[in-house]
Amino acid sequence: MILDFKEIPKANTGNGDQDTFELFSRDFLEILGYEIIQQPDRGADGKKDLIVQESRHGISGVTNIKWLVSCKHYAHSGKSINDSDEPNILDRISVHECDGFLGFYSTLPATSLGKNFEGLKKKTQIDSFDKERIEKIMLESPEGIRLASRYFPISFEKYKVENPKPAKIFADKTSIHCEYCNEDLLKTKMGIFVTMRRFSDFDVEPPVHYPYEKAYYSCKGKCDAILKSKYMQDEMMMDEWVDITDFISPITYIKKLMAWMNSFQKGGEKANDEVFDKLKRLFLNAYPHISREQTTEEKEKVKFYLQNGLMDWL
Ligand SMILES: [Zn+2]
Repeated sequence: MILDFKEIPKANTGNGDQDTFELFSRDFLEILGYEIIQQPDRGADGKKDLIVQESRHGISGVTNIKWLVSCKHYAHSGKSINDSDEPNILDRISVHECDGFLGFYSTLPATSLGKNFEGLKKKTQIDSFDKERIEKIMLESPEGIRLASRYFPISFEKYKVENPKPAKIFADKTSIHCEYCNEDLLKTKMGIFVTMRRFSDFDVEPPVHYPYEKAYYSCKGKCDAILKSKYMQDEMMMDEWVDITDFISPITYIKKLMAWMNSFQKGGEKANDEVFDKLKRLFLNAYPHISREQTTEEKEKVKFYLQNGLMDWL
């Protein structure tokens, strides 16, 4: 689980405050498209339950289903919801003049409750959201993500670090396209940057390094084979390639940048304008992806580099 439901405080016991888990369930159901018919409330005359309405669009028009929502926040004890926690479901539906019962739980339903639900489904509408289903839905949409940041600030902050999104630095979204199929390689994370030049001439003193003459962005596999045959003009050409994912991870990005700078200044390498432009475009477009904190996996990689003396490239 990514979201820790314990971040939502325990249900309040009679001090008049709104129960946060009920408010969360209301906001959650609202982003799913349920209309709030009755707000969860703890007025002077006792507790009011949350009632929501779903509009189903069918061939014969719109069917409205009123759901009585039962919120159970047992995350702090970790206890699952038993059938005894949800007694008299049919009566409760009819008292509230609803068409169905919707369980909203921060843990998981016990087998006994699941069986009870199965039996009741023959008589009425039954649905339920448990912590796993809630989390899955929340992380799928921008509205859900926003809600997660509000109700689960600590776990969401951790999630954000591990699932980085490019920073908004340039006016337009950056991209690097496969030059054959046009797929955005910063998105697919399956692309390569290929450079080509003539074989070095080691027979002369000092050895001659020929400049980079061609460069292209490509998917791995088929697109690469097609582009290679297009650009490879004779047998004297050789190609080198790097993973584009190396450019969207902070430490490998700076490593690549330093390696290229060193190769031009110290290594005496040269590139023609086209190759140099493509290299610049790659660093520029990848930049928003690396302007961020490192994920745990990336930190581990750096640890590995340090332990194996692979950080001497600066
Ligand atoms: Zn492609």
